[in-house]
Amino acid sequence: MDFHDLPLQEQLLLARRGTSYFAQRLGELSDADLDGGTLLDGWTRRHLVAHVGYNAAALCRLMDWAATGTETPMYESAEQRGREIHEGATSPAAALRNLFDHTVARLDEKWRNAPTAAWGAQIRTAQGREVLASETAWMRTREVWIHTVDLNNGGRFGVFPEVVLDTLLTDIVGMWRKKTLGSGLVLAPIGVTPVAVDAESAVEVTVSGPKEAVVRWAAGRGAVGVEFDGPRQHPPTWL
Ligand code: ZN
Repeated sequence: MDFHDLPLQEQLLLARRGTSYFAQRLGELSDADLDGGTLLDGWTRRHLVAHVGYNAAALCRLMDWAATGTETPMYESAEQRGREIHEGATSPAAALRNLFDHTVARLDEKWRNAPTAAWGAQIRTAQGREVLASETAWMRTREVWIHTVDLNNGGRFGVFPEVVLDTLLTDIVGMWRKKTLGSGLVLAPIGVTPVAVDAESAVEVTVSGPKEAVVRWAAGRGAVGVEFDGPRQHPPTWL
């Protein structure tokens, strides 16, 4: 099952459920805990919370673009995006928590009030991908579920809805193919037909294990519960 085949309202529900998951884990962290590390290199939880907040704001800009036809990109530039996160991370803890709550509410409002035609409008992601505005549902879903694990206080791929895991797998492999990375790599989650990243290449390594573990590894969040038939390695870059 692919996320994109679900009715829009169910897609938005999965984004909201992921947001609640993130909010719940964030709520369990004290202000002092926010200085702790995440699964992302060089980022404290402060950076991560700022990023998740600014991501919602960026998706609001895409929904505005879709509704008005006036181009408003997610971020002005990669530098501006990075600067915003680093500055945001220095805000007081209460301000950071507010940023998260406020941007979540704004994005939800944009989604609730979007005219039907806006969902089919073409916009462009920060990576330059031309997509329909409805893709913001998947973009946010992917963000909030995975970044909950990145918070590093008990979030797990094992609780992700099946359709989120399946679509992540498709998304990641599709991105590798587009960048011609990972030839020779086969992903073999239990209970799923193994996926060769490049069917033309000889198999160099097969990564197997429970689906959530294989997806976690492929998403670059560590080799926990996976087995390598071939040399143990880091996955190719995905995003
Ligand atoms: Zn992100």
